[in-house]
Amino acid sequence: MSIAENLQKLKSELPEHVKLLPVSKRQPDERIMAAYEAGQRLFGENKAQDLKDRYENFPKDIEWHFIGHLQRNKVKYIAPYVRVIHSADSLRLLRKIDQEAEKNERSIDCLLQLHIAEEESKFGLNCNSAAEILKSEDFQQMRHIRITGVMGMATNTDDKAKIRAEFRRLKACFEKLQAEYFSDKDYFKEISAGMSGDYPIAVEEGSTMVRVGSLIFGPREY
Ligand SMILES: *Cc1c(COP(=O)(O)O)cnc(C)c1O
Repeated sequence: MSIAENLQKLKSELPEHVKLLPVSKRQPDERIMAAYEAGQRLFGENKAQDLKDRYENFPKDIEWHFIGHLQRNKVKYIAPYVRVIHSADSLRLLRKIDQEAEKNERSIDCLLQLHIAEEESKFGLNCNSAAEILKSEDFQQMRHIRITGVMGMATNTDDKAKIRAEFRRLKACFEKLQAEYFSDKDYFKEISAGMSGDYPIAVEEGSTMVRVGSLIFGPREY
């Protein structure tokens, strides 16, 4: 199937309230242009330098989302145009994003990345440390970021029950943070969860945005 057909099929499967974020990382330019020509305007990248290059080389009506681990010294490369950072996982990183957003006279939407998988190598906060950040004086002073939800990655496994339990935990934390810190803020609404291998389970467990790469574009090139 072509990229346009893959997109079409995936969109027809997703409930209306679930957004599709095609992950274009490490895909050749032609494949991204094929998706663009099929009407796709949201893409996700996981390296600051790649996102910057793509922003410069692709049509300007694309919304670029950042989904990878973000080092503080790289925030400046993406701050002028990144639409959503899915991987905010520390107060220090949020402080940096806030500063760089201010320099660019804008506000940047961020999701708190929560650690839901078993693997130790994955980044992310536990639910209590996310709450600690939100209640800190330091966070409450920030004027140039908005926390619009949470993001999580499940363990890479065939054990569907385990994946389901992890996504369920993500949603439970989302609900707890929403009740405690955002009850009067309707912008706190995103649960970024689900990739090529597990998005149907993520959707069943409350995902509002799935990040799908290889299922749309094929295997990554490098
Ligand atoms: C690469 C990546 C994806 C997409 O992975 P696929 O398995 O190709 O769908 C989703 N989320 C994050 C954070 C990624 O790094």
